[in-house]
Amino acid sequence: MTDTGRAAVYKGLGQPFEIQGFPVPDPEPGAILIKITMATICGSDLHMWRGDLDLGAMGSPLPTILGHEMTGTVAKLGEGVTTDSAGQPLAIGDRVVYPYFHHCGHCKACLRGDTNACFSNLMYMNACNDWPHFVGAYAEYYYLGPNRTIIKVPEDLTDEMVAPVNCALSEVIYGLHKVNFTFGETIVIQGAGGLGVNATAVARDMGAEKVIVIDGISERLELAKAFGADELIDMNEYKTADERVMRVMEITGFSGADVVAELVGIPAAVPEGLSMLCSGGRYLEIGNISIGKTVEFDPSSLVMGSKTIHGVVVYDADTLKKALDFLSRTKDKYPFDKILSRTYSLEQINEAFEAQDKGLVSRSAIIP
Ligand SMILES: [Zn+2]
Ligand SMILES: [Zn+2]
Repeated sequence: MTDTGRAAVYKGLGQPFEIQGFPVPDPEPGAILIKITMATICGSDLHMWRGDLDLGAMGSPLPTILGHEMTGTVAKLGEGVTTDSAGQPLAIGDRVVYPYFHHCGHCKACLRGDTNACFSNLMYMNACNDWPHFVGAYAEYYYLGPNRTIIKVPEDLTDEMVAPVNCALSEVIYGLHKVNFTFGETIVIQGAGGLGVNATAVARDMGAEKVIVIDGISERLELAKAFGADELIDMNEYKTADERVMRVMEITGFSGADVVAELVGIPAAVPEGLSMLCSGGRYLEIGNISIGKTVEFDPSSLVMGSKTIHGVVVYDADTLKKALDFLSRTKDKYPFDKILSRTYSLEQINEAFEAQDKGLVSRSAIIP
């Protein structure tokens, strides 16, 4: 008899998650079955749940299983898998992390080695009624297809620290690399959510001269401070975009920041952030993923200021290993265990989404 695993099934916009059982798959050669120990709720999961990103309307097959930030242990190894992607021996029971996306290997971006820009990376959603069923994080299992990146978790790191590592931390490490952020530069971080506080610590570690963080929620600003921010701009104090731009100018001696990172997911943050850049500055765009939500801006500011915008959606295969190494190296310096504020069981998933959507909890974890 086949074993059954539970999953929180997403049927479409406005419908509550429903717990259902699916047969636990046996991995194909090269594939791995993961037993999920913790999954977290990211801003983009909320976007999908709320409908800012309507999966059904976008043509994604439903029903499906949402969630992309997770960690777990190896439950079954497909034929031929003996090591993780870094060459470390891999056995059943080992704790692991892995990206939620994978590249196709045969598109223009993949051909030039730019796998993070592979269009297939965006389409990781599959229907959960079809084999292998376990396609998202809010479930007991996750099916990692053949030849996917997987990295063993060092013993000194807890599930709380590593569950969001395949999204927030890896994303900002790769993003800062992409905009060539370097020693001695000043950065403005728009938004002190999961991405923002991770970016604060990474920029600090990379030798930032000044890390300036903007947010409107005092607990989030305090957390950013604990993650190494030098200057905080509270939106309750600096209420308009002009006031915030002026504050960045004051802090930077009226030159502007070398890099501004948009990690809040609000279109209006983009023209505001561009105005905070120095001449020749680089804008890192990660947060805005809601298709059709737009903003007006004056493109002459890019030309006259020799400014560039870099959009980053996912990251390269080696980033995840660097993210784990960074956590091991700095875990006593920054409160990575404070990013998660509450844990819920899989059965409480509707409650968890509602609470995080209302801002009652900043980031929650689901333990299946
Ligand atoms: Zn995420
Ligand atoms: Zn590709």
